[in-house]
Amino acid sequence: MGCLGSKEKKSRQEFSGYGSNTGGVRTHQSYNTVAPPTTTQIQTSASKPQPQSQPPIFIPPKPSAQNARPVQKPEATTILGKPLDDVKKYYTLGKELGRGQFGITYLCTENSTGRTYACKSILKRKLVSKADRDDMKREIQIMQHLSGQPNIVEFKGAYEDRYSVHLIMELCAGGELFDRIIAEGHYSERAAAAICRAIVNVVHICHFMGVMHRDLKPENFLLSSKDEGATLKATDFGLSVFIEEGKVYRDMVGSAYYVAPEVMRRSYGKEIDIWSAGIMLYILLSGVPPFWAETEKGIFDAILEGKIDFESQPWPSISDGAKDLVRKMLTQDPKKRITSAQVLEHPWIREGGEASDKPIDSAVLSRMKQFRAMNKLKKLALKFIAENLSEEEIKGLKAMFTNMDTDNSGTITYEELKTGLARIGSRLSEAEVKQLMEAADVDGNGAIDYIEFISATMHRHRLEKDEHLYKAFQYFDKDNSGYITRDELEIAMTQHGMGDAATIREIISEVDTDNDGRINYEEFCAMMRSGKQHPKIN
Ligand code: ADP
Repeated sequence: MGCLGSKEKKSRQEFSGYGSNTGGVRTHQSYNTVAPPTTTQIQTSASKPQPQSQPPIFIPPKPSAQNARPVQKPEATTILGKPLDDVKKYYTLGKELGRGQFGITYLCTENSTGRTYACKSILKRKLVSKADRDDMKREIQIMQHLSGQPNIVEFKGAYEDRYSVHLIMELCAGGELFDRIIAEGHYSERAAAAICRAIVNVVHICHFMGVMHRDLKPENFLLSSKDEGATLKATDFGLSVFIEEGKVYRDMVGSAYYVAPEVMRRSYGKEIDIWSAGIMLYILLSGVPPFWAETEKGIFDAILEGKIDFESQPWPSISDGAKDLVRKMLTQDPKKRITSAQVLEHPWIREGGEASDKPIDSAVLSRMKQFRAMNKLKKLALKFIAENLSEEEIKGLKAMFTNMDTDNSGTITYEELKTGLARIGSRLSEAEVKQLMEAADVDGNGAIDYIEFISATMHRHRLEKDEHLYKAFQYFDKDNSGYITRDELEIAMTQHGMGDAATIREIISEVDTDNDGRINYEEFCAMMRSGKQHPKIN
């Protein structure tokens, strides 16, 4: 499953948010050296849609007689347009739950009832422009408007003091949706359908209640509790707007992987939310986003091209019903795209519908299967790269290796691989496990060592990095001539117990596309990057 670990999650590109009216950005770290997006919002806050009838911002609980204070006059700096008030009179703030660009979310306890909530505290000095403050007010209005609906976080109230605005909302103690799936290790189409149903339910409620979400992505969904039957809750409405009938929206908002093509064409409506939900469904089923590239521009180009990969693992074993729904949600033309009501009636997603409870291939398994299909030079080069990756780059895989290596011997045996894979939900036959074992065990000693495991399961996007590829090429090109010759290949392969003439011949004929009998750097890179192996987002 898609490992949206919280660390990397925060570093994915996201463009817009508070400050979006001024062309600002909400989160702008990127995980690679991408030029800052050139997209800016062109809509001014004056033309922003306003709610038909603005719900009151907040009715504060009456202070008790003993702590009643003289009412303060609203100050010029007041954001909520009501007197400043001290949240600590009503709530005791506890440990930090998480951080966003604008504020910190704390666990808090209501003094009068002892009930726990989440308190999102936003520093007012971070809301620099009027547009920032308007965006935050709108977020509160929208949360309040949607509150009380299933799958949407309950809003309790807002307080403002001299330094911060505090939003009190239902506590979602179950953490992020994708983290849960990873922790459970495996799941089925039926479980993916149930999650997708909850997500589309949010879209349906939003649209029904006149709100366009505009930033649907896994991180914006939390689970109500740690229980099995916990409810999925949408928690972040920072980019949502009240829909004005007939209005064409033009702001570039959203998060790169999830953004609909018409957003890039700067003419869109509420159909964009179904697209983003469709991207989430694709990730739920395969663990990777359908449109992927190293740079933001690359992602956008892939989205506009709109080609959906249903060939890579694990798609061949995914049902036609699931693929049909993904296709309908990821239809380029928003007018032809399926609506939220239609999604909820789709035979695959309906409660008690077609989706089966057969486990879906885990990412580890998919990657190992892909690794199996690689030629031996590629495997060796991957091994070389794996040896040279930093600790940071392989943290997740290292944890996985340790989990599987139950006797802490430093190698994974056939038995360990079999139980490890079963634990993460695969139901492979003995023969299939054996094939994987043989594929990953590059040096053929009967067990998978740490480096072999990393080689077999690491991301494709490690391979996109030129410096990794170049170092690997140099490793084989012993005399630095710019070519890997037949002899050099033989030396390297023999060192790893695979230098037989047939293997060498096979590799040369596959990789040496200009037929000069040796492998140049270009051919080497093409080989390394070939094959539809997706990056996983973890
Ligand atoms: P962002 O800038 O991503 O919108 P938020 O400030 O909304 O960030 O949330 C930051 C983190 O706080 C979330 O990733 C989540 O871990 C935690 N969080 C937010 N809302 C809640 C909630 N209602 N219950 C529990 N944790 C929450």
